[in-house]
Amino acid sequence: MTQLLWLRSDLRMSDNTALAAAMASGPTVALYVITPCQWLAHDDAPCKVDFWLRNLAELSEQLRTLNVPLLIREVDDWSAVANALLKVCRQLGVQGVHFNDEYGVNEQRRDQAVTRLLEDAGIGVRRHLDQLLFAPGTLLTQSGSYFKVFGQFRKACLSRLEISLPACQPIPAPQAPLPVDSDQVPVEVSGFAPPSDYLRALWPAGETFAQRRLAAFVDDDLEQYHQRRDLPAEPGTSQLSAYLATGVISIRQCLHAALAHNQGELDSGSTGATTWINELLWREFYKHILVGYPRVSMHRAFRAETEALPWRHAPDELAAWQEGRSGFPIVDAAMRQLRETGWMHNRLRMVVAMFLSKNLLIDWREGEHWFMRQLIDGDLAANNGGWQWSASTGTDSVPYFRLFNPISQSQRFDPDGQFLRRWLPELRHLGKREIHNPSAQQGLFGAPNYPKPIVDLGKSRARALDAFRNLPEGRP
Ligand SMILES: Cc1cc2nc3c(=O)[nH]c(=O)nc-3n(C[C@H](O)[C@H](O)[C@H](O)COP(=O)(O)OP(=O)(O)OC[C@H]3O[C@@H](n4cnc5c(N)ncnc54)[C@H](O)[C@@H]3O)c2cc1C
Repeated sequence: MTQLLWLRSDLRMSDNTALAAAMASGPTVALYVITPCQWLAHDDAPCKVDFWLRNLAELSEQLRTLNVPLLIREVDDWSAVANALLKVCRQLGVQGVHFNDEYGVNEQRRDQAVTRLLEDAGIGVRRHLDQLLFAPGTLLTQSGSYFKVFGQFRKACLSRLEISLPACQPIPAPQAPLPVDSDQVPVEVSGFAPPSDYLRALWPAGETFAQRRLAAFVDDDLEQYHQRRDLPAEPGTSQLSAYLATGVISIRQCLHAALAHNQGELDSGSTGATTWINELLWREFYKHILVGYPRVSMHRAFRAETEALPWRHAPDELAAWQEGRSGFPIVDAAMRQLRETGWMHNRLRMVVAMFLSKNLLIDWREGEHWFMRQLIDGDLAANNGGWQWSASTGTDSVPYFRLFNPISQSQRFDPDGQFLRRWLPELRHLGKREIHNPSAQQGLFGAPNYPKPIVDLGKSRARALDAFRNLPEGRP
């Protein structure tokens, strides 16, 4: 009864639900399908594709210890995936196919098509809950709809978790060797330029590394997480997002590590631990939103009335934002961090997103695309959720009149200018008072090589507030 494990965003051996289920059902072969055109259409970043390949190579070695061969196939896009799977199943005489669920609209359509084709061919398909703590649809409001407010969703999650905590799966025992050879994992996919060695070194591949990063974070940083998580100059957050998005580490492993540190307490005890658990639940929330309100994954605003906002067509300002030339140091430093590392600190993601969507009044979708094309942790649900939150078009968004001022955010969260100096060498000579707003300085304190602000903060704030106030259906 040969089984096929179809790997997607679950590139690990430990606590992998589909892997454990497949190996419990029979001799297992793993498969990964490369789909370059689909990845381009989804704006997947070259550094993320490189991260997938590097993790696949590591996983192939890990699977070897279980005698599970890893096959690699390449087709253009997801429309060709079902046939590619059927072909492998026929070649190997596979009777059961296992995969862990993914939640975007396109992902679900692909999986339905695969399921139909395989079942019609007499091959069993088993889909597993793995990426989330709760299957979407199993946590609903009293009226039976998906939650729209994070606080209520969080409360529902915590009360479920108090009753029953999803356990981590042990690594399966090795199977007997199979007469199937693993394929070589390619080091590059055409259309995706390899990232710099510097970027690669920031994000080492493999679940052994991810587990080490989790353990070090829990030992060294979790206790002060709530105090340091907003300071971009400090390594106060886990930097596990890329590993979670690619499934190199599981959500259950993260949750259990935090609970072990916090004597099993979900919502009391260490404030650092409970704050971090909250962030893990934001991840959960946005994935449930994706399923409950599929329009958000089809480029639609969650709040339909905000579709009428008069977004500006301002390609020069968009380019200045993308390239870190806005003239606002915290925005520019953040955008350069993104370009060079494939990652951006959460506080700064909010700052730059509000700057683009409010001060520049440029459509949040432009920012969402740009982030996806750069982020090593790019994740449709979290990215869309974060953008729509910042632009006040989403579920449980920031109120439209609460608009971050990038200069005061910079003074508050990078008071010594340490983060700014790291990313903006042209401002290194400025003191901690001047560096946040160089255009206000003259003479010796000036920064002649740094751009002037592309927008007036006061006027642009008023313009954004007007735009929201004047929405046809009134205030959002
Ligand atoms: C505009 C915008 C875009 C974003 N795009 C993404 C994205 O594409 N991918 C992504 O993983 N996160 C995204 N986030 C959420 C958040 O910024 C990152 O998850 C976080 O910065 C990752 O760093 P970390 O691993 O050190 O997080 P930690 O602070 O250590 O948090 C632990 C984990 O919780 C999850 N998490 C934390 N905050 C959030 C959040 N607000 N929403 C959803 N999940 C969260 C992540 O998986 C993260 O790794 C976005 C936020 C904003 C405001």
